[in-house]
Amino acid sequence: MADKSLPFSKEQIEKIIETHPTPFHIYDEKAIRENVQYFKKAFSWNDGFKEYFAIKAAPNPYLMKVLREEGCGIDCSSIAELELAKRVGMSGDEIMLTSNDTPAHEFQKAKDLGAIINLDDISHINFVEKNVGLPETICMRYNPGDLKAGNLIIGHPEDAKYGFTHNQMIDGYRILKEKGVKHFGIHTMVASNELSADYFIETAEILFKLIVEVYEKTGIKIEFANLGGGIGIPYKPEEKAVDLEYVSAGIEKLYNKMIVGNGLSPLKIYFELGRSITGPYGYLVTKVRHIKKTYKSFAGLDACMVDLMRPALYGAYHHITVVGKENQTATEKYDVTGSLCENNDKFAIGRVLPELSPNDILVIHDAGAHGHSMGFNYNGKLKSAELLLRENGDVAEIRRAETIDDYFTTLDFDGLKEFTV
Ligand SMILES: *Cc1c(COP(=O)(O)O)cnc(C)c1O
Repeated sequence: MADKSLPFSKEQIEKIIETHPTPFHIYDEKAIRENVQYFKKAFSWNDGFKEYFAIKAAPNPYLMKVLREEGCGIDCSSIAELELAKRVGMSGDEIMLTSNDTPAHEFQKAKDLGAIINLDDISHINFVEKNVGLPETICMRYNPGDLKAGNLIIGHPEDAKYGFTHNQMIDGYRILKEKGVKHFGIHTMVASNELSADYFIETAEILFKLIVEVYEKTGIKIEFANLGGGIGIPYKPEEKAVDLEYVSAGIEKLYNKMIVGNGLSPLKIYFELGRSITGPYGYLVTKVRHIKKTYKSFAGLDACMVDLMRPALYGAYHHITVVGKENQTATEKYDVTGSLCENNDKFAIGRVLPELSPNDILVIHDAGAHGHSMGFNYNGKLKSAELLLRENGDVAEIRRAETIDDYFTTLDFDGLKEFTV
């Protein structure tokens, strides 16, 4: 059973709302730190083990600073994310660029920062060489095709746009070695929000096998294996978190047999997780605006899918706590909606909750990854603030809410800028 309690009391959250009106996201710093510490401890057998936080999950510099203090690197996939890394003060092998369909200026920026570049396609070897020059260290993303079953969010690996085929990987290492590249990594990511622990052990086995084959065919000793992101979280109370100690023990066993056994150690194990690092420790706090009864009962909130798209996008379940009514029996069935003019703007459909009234405070759980960051401005909706609940109980604003002026910043009302074609 997953714990769906809150890190703040009713009095605390009401106090916060006095100065920071709903809706907002709030992140639990203490829980995030402890989570990373537990993850690192589970893999402490591996020298050089590192988590590169997939910044797209929660691209806030303050969260990144907290994670960096806990030893995390950053995994970027756009020029803006590389810039965020730079502004947080990160450089070199603290940064990994795992992008696809990558423009030259993004490779250039990664190279300028000394980041590890993870290539998505064999044609990018020539592209990088021609446009920015090959760095000394290169990683390549492997797509195992039908060797591996996919899962719901990413789909079958053969249909996925990501990565090199098996033969392209071997050719890629050969070509890069000829071109003078000195250090090599390998990467794969074939699942998203996967709750099966064995899935990640199997993924490691597929990579370790390829590492052995690459050595036999090219003489290259790969120095790090990035097992990607994709570790799921228990969105539903009845689900269980992935047992990272079990995953680690399974991978260690394979490491000893396949990597140490073939004289290929040391090999550093990397992950680039997003969801399982911050997801459960971020909460969307919102208030009921209206209760509407037609053919169904609707609870209309002051948050909408701009603040959390996952339910609308994937039909995803997010647990909802009604603050102050935790011990009240759930007797009413609601569609919990936002105000967007899209009928899929619903945080829950047919959710049984205690009877709701306007101004009730609702907390939507597990919004700490792929939550605030996914939002858009469709329908003129503005993105909410992000707050950080500090370890000592204080609260800091780590991103202000958008204003109407922000919405209009890309427009010029002073007249058209015509140009001749
Ligand atoms: C999205 C993404 C991640 C993070 O995925 P999570 O499901 O949040 O762990 C990591 N690596 C790559 C390449 C991604 O695209």
